[in-house]
Amino acid sequence: MKIAIAGGSIAGLACALTLTCTGHDVHVYERSATPLRGRGGGVVVLRQMLRFLEDHGHRTRAMLAVPTHRRRWIDSEGQVIRDDPELLPFSSWDAVYRSLCSMLPPGAIHYGRHVASVAEDAHGVDIRFDDGSAPVRADVLVAADGTGSRLRSMLFPGSVSSYAGYIAWRGVVNESAFHRDDVSDLIENMTLYQSDAELFMTFLIPALDGSLETGARRFNWLWYRNEPDMSSVGAFLTGRDGQRHHASVAPGELSEPSLAFLHRTARERLPHTLSQLVAATDTPFLQAISDALSPSFAKGRIALVGDAACTLRPHTGSGTSKAAGDAVSLAEALATPTADVVPVLDDWAARRRSAVEPLILKGPRLAQSFGLGYPSH
Ligand SMILES: Cc1cc2nc3c(=O)[nH]c(=O)nc-3n(C[C@H](O)[C@H](O)[C@H](O)COP(=O)(O)OP(=O)(O)OC[C@H]3O[C@@H](n4cnc5c(N)ncnc54)[C@H](O)[C@@H]3O)c2cc1C
Repeated sequence: MKIAIAGGSIAGLACALTLTCTGHDVHVYERSATPLRGRGGGVVVLRQMLRFLEDHGHRTRAMLAVPTHRRRWIDSEGQVIRDDPELLPFSSWDAVYRSLCSMLPPGAIHYGRHVASVAEDAHGVDIRFDDGSAPVRADVLVAADGTGSRLRSMLFPGSVSSYAGYIAWRGVVNESAFHRDDVSDLIENMTLYQSDAELFMTFLIPALDGSLETGARRFNWLWYRNEPDMSSVGAFLTGRDGQRHHASVAPGELSEPSLAFLHRTARERLPHTLSQLVAATDTPFLQAISDALSPSFAKGRIALVGDAACTLRPHTGSGTSKAAGDAVSLAEALATPTADVVPVLDDWAARRRSAVEPLILKGPRLAQSFGLGYPSH
């Protein structure tokens, strides 16, 4: 089949790869004019995806990850108050993204193509772009356009993402920026600090080029803080160019007042071992945490994957692996030739939704156990 994908981030590229592996003619349309380099932090390794790719003859060394040995909670003085074994290998968003791009056939990703509208008939889907370029016709369209998915809102009017009541300040900083003694406790451990309505965590991820060498790796940190006041959220989401962003402000785009707030609050509220990470980070970034759940993961010839289908809370550590699971299961569902793809997608959507339901429920429960987010009623 000819398959078009709207959105060229992790979910879109993962689908492009699995659907290409199973013999389809796949094209990805990404609104960003250039590849999305260096935008993300850490992600857990995509085991199901790795298995699928190895079964289809791909070597995936670039997705290798920094191992984590312990999960340590510290107090405001930096003393360890709880220490458990933890064997979660962390990769980086960049390593996964670059690895996916490198495995796709040349010319499969089309940058600067913002999907503006779609029209479906009995035989296919027409996809139109906002630059007025020629529409594309496909047998199936995969919507991988993220948590604020325009396609989800078009298919299911009223289905929009909702702010969960807290934000994540984030950053990535080179291991080599510190004297080893100053960060020795943080190396190859996940370190967490919890205080009133906030949770800080950090762990090592591979270097931007995927290297796992000591010194070349990077600390990924996330600082979740309750922010119920929408005017403060709006101010934080307004970047240095004065533009109000939808749900995230990318590295290098935080405004001076937001940066000053972050640095001051980190100095005042975090143990020194953690505030030194924030202080040394050149380009911190920000994400407002939101929930989104599509009423169905497919409608007609259009399938929804990744954050467009459902946006999981980051505490489940599974947004990327859920996206990879969507990609593997969709490719398996579409592997057998069929005269009518609509019931196949319907069936896939129902099975996929029940498979991810436990994760949808787990995220808000975990957040609440950390005192994060709006209280549930
Ligand atoms: C604070 C935070 C921490 C996280 N931590 C982790 C973690 O540790 N582990 C983990 O596995 N996951 C984590 N996640 C989740 C993870 O980032 C996502 O779930 C995963 O990357 C899947 O994203 P996606 O590809 O569906 O959407 P996105 O990455 O949002 O990509 C959507 C893409 O679609 C493009 N697009 C949008 N509209 C259009 C259009 N109309 N036409 C064309 N292109 C369009 C966008 O430019 C973008 O490239 C975290 C998320 C947050 C918010």
